[in-house]
Amino acid sequence: MTFTDPVDIAAHCARAAMGMMDRYGVPAHPNNFIVWYAFVADRDPELTKAINGILRSGQKFTDTICGELHERFFGMSQHEAELRAVGKRIEDAVARVMEYLSTASQGAIQYGNALENFSGELDCPTPGPELGVLVKSILDETKVMIEVNRQLEERLETSSGEIARLREDLDQLKREATTDALTGLANRKLFDISLRESALESEEERKFLSLLMIDIDFFKQFNDSHGHMLGDQVLKLVARTIQDCIKGKDTAARYGGEEFAIILPDTRLKDGVAVAETVRRQVAGRKVLNRRTGQVLGQVTLSVGVAEYEFGETLGAFVHRADEALYLAKRQGRNHVSSQDDLTTTNVIEFEDI
Ligand code: GH3
Ligand code: MG
Ligand code: MG
Repeated sequence: MTFTDPVDIAAHCARAAMGMMDRYGVPAHPNNFIVWYAFVADRDPELTKAINGILRSGQKFTDTICGELHERFFGMSQHEAELRAVGKRIEDAVARVMEYLSTASQGAIQYGNALENFSGELDCPTPGPELGVLVKSILDETKVMIEVNRQLEERLETSSGEIARLREDLDQLKREATTDALTGLANRKLFDISLRESALESEEERKFLSLLMIDIDFFKQFNDSHGHMLGDQVLKLVARTIQDCIKGKDTAARYGGEEFAIILPDTRLKDGVAVAETVRRQVAGRKVLNRRTGQVLGQVTLSVGVAEYEFGETLGAFVHRADEALYLAKRQGRNHVSSQDDLTTTNVIEFEDI
């Protein structure tokens, strides 16, 4: 996003941005300033929607939330830079096509004018030898027009092929930017985006939203015994099993190392627990084999924590509650599902959203 506002408008927006940051307790950091300037100047409908959502829910603009906003709307990773470059090439190709079309339409106008002139000349009452000359001129003009059209067709074909290839590149880059390379699930970045979107939708439509945090049990031990490569195969197996247990608008993500998360929109806690149980059972029920040697490597188990979104809470608090439930599942012996309802005040560690 670039800012090219005239100085007086920029000064007005800057003052308004500072005022709002002050009012909502937003830390005075240049990264936050650019976010609020863009909000005040109404530069991006998605940014406006995101900030309005936070304002409506009464959440505080903590460092975490401000950091997420800046990263989402202004952070530019290598991938995003590549995405933009491909986007620019598509724009250029489309601009070229528009130019061809405008040349062609100018050609058609010229041809039309020429025909009109000829028809004026044909109107003359005494057709003589000039008629042959006239017909030849019309034929010449028509040939020129046919040639122009042929060239245009050729150029359009080349351009549309180029655009189709660029679009494939763009789709591929978009997929890579949000996909975990090993498991093919959503990566952490897409998880953050999906969770924020799901929470906003849940707020707006007053719908339930559940979150599962999943961690493989004793995975370090598995790696130590069987090696990292087989460990990676287990991560893939768990990811596939998780993916098979969800549907529709649900999002399964690799949250980090051997941790996964599932976002379940329109799902209340008890139904989230049921999904968690299914995932846990499915994974525990599989024997892990070394395909090369046929050796049975034993059972892989998961611990799962489930939480339900509370309107108005921060995403940090929501994730933290699911994490707390996960740690409780670990303490309860692993290969286990716990929910926020199982948390008592004695086993909750106070969370301060910083
Ligand atoms: P717990 O039951 O308490 O979760 O024990 P744990 O051993 O699973 O947990 P810990 O956090 O001690 O170890 C996590 C292990 O996950 C350590 C690391 O080697 C492994 N791991 C993380 N990412 C990957 C990965 O991409 N591939 C492989 N093979 N292993 C990974
Ligand atoms: Mg872990
Ligand atoms: Mg683990």
